[in-house]
Amino acid sequence: MTTRGTVLLIEDEEAIADLVRMYFEQEGYRLIHAADGEAGLAAVRDRSPRVVLLDLGLPGVDGIEVCRRIRAQSDIPVIMLTARDAEVDKIVGLEIGADDYVTKPFSPRELVARVRVVLRRSEEAPRIPSVIEVDGWEIDTGRREVRPPQGEPIRPTAREFDLLWYLADNRGLVLSRSQILEAVWGYDYFGETRTVDVHVRQLRKKLDGIPIETVWGVGYRVAD
Ligand code: CA
Repeated sequence: MTTRGTVLLIEDEEAIADLVRMYFEQEGYRLIHAADGEAGLAAVRDRSPRVVLLDLGLPGVDGIEVCRRIRAQSDIPVIMLTARDAEVDKIVGLEIGADDYVTKPFSPRELVARVRVVLRRSEEAPRIPSVIEVDGWEIDTGRREVRPPQGEPIRPTAREFDLLWYLADNRGLVLSRSQILEAVWGYDYFGETRTVDVHVRQLRKKLDGIPIETVWGVGYRVAD
C-alpha cells in the first residue's frame, strides 16, 4: 500500500491518539504514536516521520521543550496541539519554532487538512531569491533575513518572515486579516484571525521600527 508518508503523534492521551490514528490511516498516512517526549524524540531520530503532531501538555519533558529539542536537530514540520486558547500566545511568544498549532478540542479532519498544508509548504520549490526594500529595511528571501537600516541582520521565525514578505510584496495595499491568513497560512484558519495580530506583534518587537501600519477595523499595510 502506498502511503502519503509517516506522521508522528506525540500525545499522552490514548483516546486522542486513537482518534487521530483512525483519521490519518483513513487518509492514507502511516501514524506512529509516542506517549511521551522521550519516546517522541527517539522516533523523530529513528523513524524519519514527515511531520510531527506534538501535544503541549506532556508528562515529563513538556511539549515546548520537546519542540526545542526537535528543532535543535531537524527542520521537520511541527504542529503543536494545545489544550487552551490562552496557550497559543505562549507558543508563538516563545518562538519555539513550531510551524502551526491547533487548539483542543480539534476536529481530526481539520488536523489532517493542516498536515497537508504544512507538507505542501515544506515541499514547495524554494522561491527565487529576491530582496524587497521598504523604508531602508531589506527583506531578503534568499537568506530569509531582514536587514535594518542600521545594525545587524535579524532572522525572524519562518512564519514571521513569510508574513512580513507578504505585506512588503503587496506594499501600499491594505490587507485584511483573513486575506493574510489565507496567503501566509495557506487556508481559512476557521476565523482565528488573532493569530495574525500575535505574529505582527512579534515582528514589531523584533524589528523595532519596521513600518507595518495597523489599519483599524481592517488589517495591516506596509506603506509604499
Ligand atoms: Ca496531554
